Amino acid sequence: MTAAPNSYIARFLPLRLPRVCVAVTDSDPSGLVDKAEALVRDNTFLEFRLDYLPRPSLALPRIKRFMEYHPHVTAIATCRRTASGGKFKGSLAAQLDILGKASASGCQLLDIELQSAAKCKPEQVKRLRTRSALILSYHDFRATKNLEPTLDRMVKIPADFYKVVGTATTLYDNVTMMKFLEKFGDRYSLVGLCMGEQGIISRLLGVRAGSVFTFAAVSPDEKTAPGQTTAQELRNTYRIEQMDAATRIYGVAGDPVAHSLSPVIMNAALRRENVNGVYLALHAKTLKDLLACVRDIPIHGLSITMPYKEAILKYLDNTDSHTTKIGACNTVVRAQDGKLYGFNTDAAGVVRPLEQRITIEKARILVLGAGGAARAAVFGLKERGAEVYILNRTAAPAQKLAHQARARIAKRADLKKLVFDVIINATPVGMGNTRESPLNENEINARYLFDMIYDPEETRLMKLAKGRGAEVIPGIEMFVHQAARQFEIWTGKPAPWDDMLRVVMLALQERTAARQAARPT
Ligand code: NAP
Repeated sequence: MTAAPNSYIARFLPLRLPRVCVAVTDSDPSGLVDKAEALVRDNTFLEFRLDYLPRPSLALPRIKRFMEYHPHVTAIATCRRTASGGKFKGSLAAQLDILGKASASGCQLLDIELQSAAKCKPEQVKRLRTRSALILSYHDFRATKNLEPTLDRMVKIPADFYKVVGTATTLYDNVTMMKFLEKFGDRYSLVGLCMGEQGIISRLLGVRAGSVFTFAAVSPDEKTAPGQTTAQELRNTYRIEQMDAATRIYGVAGDPVAHSLSPVIMNAALRRENVNGVYLALHAKTLKDLLACVRDIPIHGLSITMPYKEAILKYLDNTDSHTTKIGACNTVVRAQDGKLYGFNTDAAGVVRPLEQRITIEKARILVLGAGGAARAAVFGLKERGAEVYILNRTAAPAQKLAHQARARIAKRADLKKLVFDVIINATPVGMGNTRESPLNENEINARYLFDMIYDPEETRLMKLAKGRGAEVIPGIEMFVHQAARQFEIWTGKPAPWDDMLRVVMLALQERTAARQAARPT
């Protein structure tokens, strides 16, 4: 039973609500309202987390002034008790008193937990709805389960919105939440999402499935729930306000994926080319979990990253000859019939930056490493007629690759005497650290040094190569070209390569600056 809304506000509220509500917290009343003032230009939907204040009632006169001054703002007042996962240590009567006063201060919505509301007399809950709309909320901090029985319990208490929040421990928990929203979203005004790093996608796809709105943080440092993203990210990167049933879903799947730059670059490309699509980070702890999600959401295209590039092959319905030879897949397309097709765009990521600079045919190219990325480079370059040499820490994989691709083996002891057109580093040596290099200075005799590593922007190997007069090709070019090829495979449109490079360079620079700022002085 959805209770008939008491007030005019409650009746018309769902029509004017933006999709993103920003949760505002502070330990000081003036700090709380100052934050709201700073946000209000770009965010018209705010949640005042009164429970973060030691004495919530002191903030209410300021909130009243704020609401009078900003009549276009919609505000939720929340004073969650500790027993329900909040910070308010007061009694139920004190909680009701604060919520009542928040309503009188102009907050159009009040949030009360099921645990508190269940202990109230019906008239007490009814009183909360006199002037404001009521959100009845339930948070499960461990799992996403029993959603329907929970809703059954909740709807016995008349409210205007029912907010059901789970915690995702698998990717599939997001699907469970979406199915729940799809099933009941027409009957009740629901707000549904999963907390946790694995639940991030529910914050976006939930609104597509029927959640009236979702919650976001002011900044990465001010999250009120695990996995919460910022409002800016939801709007600018993921374009949540434009998302609809026709929005195609893409993503990068791996473990871990939290630091992947793929969402930044791919969402920028989708926006630039006006594709109605969104690209998400899918933290899959198992392939089984990922594949179940791909089937049920459904996901149109996937970038596959570590550790699944090889393991995914046996689940694909078909792969192109390139991918079969390389033995690793970094791109999946889900066809309309549900079949999964695999591609490898890492080879394009190596070949394209090189062909912008040299004639690959007959070029002498040394590849360091014999793992997945090295295999893509070796096969891609051999196909273009290059003379390829392989040097790897362990002999066996290098010999296998050389044999399969008809390439040659280089010996480390000979490097000082050998001259190449290009040396490519396809090992992780130097990643996240500028002190290690896979080669010594006197072993770098080449016109070009191509380091696949892109974080840090400049590795020790790159520095040494510059000192030897070589031109450096940074790993970011490979990253952008392999992503550009994925974009083309999924959308059939040419990729906006310049824009993609620009946004990813900016993201990398921001990351480097944040890392430097965090370093102890
Ligand atoms: P992988 O399959 O794990 O292969 C790693 C290779 O590096 C193996 O040949 C391994 O040799 C060698 N290696 C590892 N640690 C080493 C060490 N300490 N000293 C010498 N050799 C070492 O990894 P991958 O997927 O090919 O990736 C390789 C690198 O390319 C990573 O840094 C990755 O980030 C980068 N990459 C960049 C892009 C891009 O878009 N820019 C795309 C793909 C990959 P053994 O056989 O002896 O273990």
